Amino acid sequence: MPEIPDLEAICGFMNQHLAGLAVAETELRFPWLVRSEDGLDRIAGHRFESVHRYGKFLIFEWDGDIAMVVNPMLTGRFTWADPSERRRPATAITIVFAGGNELRYSDQRKMGRWYVVPSGEVDSVPGFADLGPDALEIDEETFVAQLRRRRGMIKNTLTNQKFMAGIGNAYSDEILWEAKLHPHRTGSTLDDDDRRELYRAMHATFDWARPLLEAQVSERLYQRNEEWRDHLRVHRQEGEPCPRCGSAVKAQVRSGRETNYCLTCQPLFA
Ligand SMILES: [Zn+2]
Repeated sequence: MPEIPDLEAICGFMNQHLAGLAVAETELRFPWLVRSEDGLDRIAGHRFESVHRYGKFLIFEWDGDIAMVVNPMLTGRFTWADPSERRRPATAITIVFAGGNELRYSDQRKMGRWYVVPSGEVDSVPGFADLGPDALEIDEETFVAQLRRRRGMIKNTLTNQKFMAGIGNAYSDEILWEAKLHPHRTGSTLDDDDRRELYRAMHATFDWARPLLEAQVSERLYQRNEEWRDHLRVHRQEGEPCPRCGSAVKAQVRSGRETNYCLTCQPLFA
């Protein structure tokens, strides 16, 4: 599932390549992907102004005060394509721009959610108003204060979108590794030094990932159904040496989610 570093890179690419382009037509193969009263064809004839991210949502702004909110969920992937490139069967949504280039969206599990709403009504999108502060925007004092009230396991807190939006299974593992905190430590075992270290680690991880992901988007965003995960240090690296100490990375699966960590760097009992 795309998380903050992935979506930031995607926004950067789109703001560069789509600026000022008008939509010629839209094609929607799986109608249930668009869940708003307005359909996708509402953006036809309108110009792309910008796209930004909040949590795991992308918010596209079109001229005429139209917003398009997209949550790609697990398997939604964007490709920027030349019209001569054959569309893959998994292409679910195509936005054709004047001049011919296409923004294509594929979604293996077809779980993504698209909404076309007036610009002032983005908060009406289901789940949007419940989101906590964005992880890139929350300040350290607010983060520490809110974390003090959380008793559950730290990984669950970091990935709880109502606590803070934008971090998922992959980057929570990376941030906790950077902070040298075991993912299953509970809130009550942390002190303020740990919480401040976690805040530092969160930004250090985003700063580390940013150039790697900017390099990934290259000329066309995603290639097929890839996930930008090869650079990660512990997530899905079970058995590989920890880049810091060389111990084998551990894995635990709970409720279908894999958690990876280095037990030497991240002891459960500090
Ligand atoms: Zn280690």
